[in-house]
Amino acid sequence: MNKKLSIALSLMVSTLALGSITQIQAATDDVTVYSSRKEHLIQPLFEQFTKQTGIEVNYLTGSGGDLIERLKLEGENTPADMFMTVDAGDLWYAGTQDIFQPVATEVIKSNIPSYLRDPNGLWTGLSVRARTIVYSTERVKESDLSTYGDLASSKWNKKLCLRTSKKIYTKSLVASIIHNKGVDAASEIIDGWVNNLAAVPNAKDSHVMDAILAGQCDVGIVNTYYFGRLIEKNPEAPLKLFWANQDTSGVHVNVSGAGITKNASNPAGATQLLEWLSSAEAQAIYGSLNKEYPANQNIDSDDVVSSWGEFKQDRMNLSIAGELQADAVKLMQRLGYK
Ligand code: FE
Repeated sequence: MNKKLSIALSLMVSTLALGSITQIQAATDDVTVYSSRKEHLIQPLFEQFTKQTGIEVNYLTGSGGDLIERLKLEGENTPADMFMTVDAGDLWYAGTQDIFQPVATEVIKSNIPSYLRDPNGLWTGLSVRARTIVYSTERVKESDLSTYGDLASSKWNKKLCLRTSKKIYTKSLVASIIHNKGVDAASEIIDGWVNNLAAVPNAKDSHVMDAILAGQCDVGIVNTYYFGRLIEKNPEAPLKLFWANQDTSGVHVNVSGAGITKNASNPAGATQLLEWLSSAEAQAIYGSLNKEYPANQNIDSDDVVSSWGEFKQDRMNLSIAGELQADAVKLMQRLGYK
């Protein structure tokens, strides 16, 4: 059985919280993970790992930002051996906060392609999430769609719904557009998007699709697993995914991933867990639990995800999404993308 340290991670990293975690100090051969990936997505994996290796995994879930702050505050006293989070922008940020130690074993290198890993080995992508175009099959012809940039064209005037620029997913997508097209072209695209918005940006990807279904707009951009969740509940929904930029850069992909903490007390166990998570066996579970794509390219996606079709991925190294994050935020602020 895996031991859960505490669900109630307070938003503030208080000394009280630190005290409570010290009391549940893990056994020395246990591995302790701080995760912003949700409990139901990690718990089955940890259980399987424990079954195979006998190594217990303790975990604590919370928001990525809070957990990074906690790791910084705990410093050398942290019980965490591994930090798991979603989005390369957040992994990159964690890397800049000096909480990871470099790990790039041959196993990890051969399981996970380099564009899904930090160039300095600080973090490793473990699942791939594709962020692409979703559209109303009632009001949009597939042949009218092509690229993220095309959503800036006047033919989509008042027909576009987008997620808020505050979300890290949006920041990483815009960073990739800056990387692929340069700042000037990216500015034109974001400006066009803002002009084409049918409503103020949505708080969630699911809201983008709800707005399309309600007839408020015709096209949007979402992570495909949100589409998967919606279609599971409502198989007849007149919505479809479109793979963007297939003749150019490819679909913007991002990762959920993990790194070994700088102050890990069990770096060997944590490395063993990270290697196992990158293996074909774990990857088949890891991605399919959330209808994501495996980061290990040697295995196939699950059947539901495969049914959405094959596509070309943008192979930009995902650390660039982090490096260009501040530029993306500045650009969106300047152009009024809320
Ligand atoms: Fe998400």
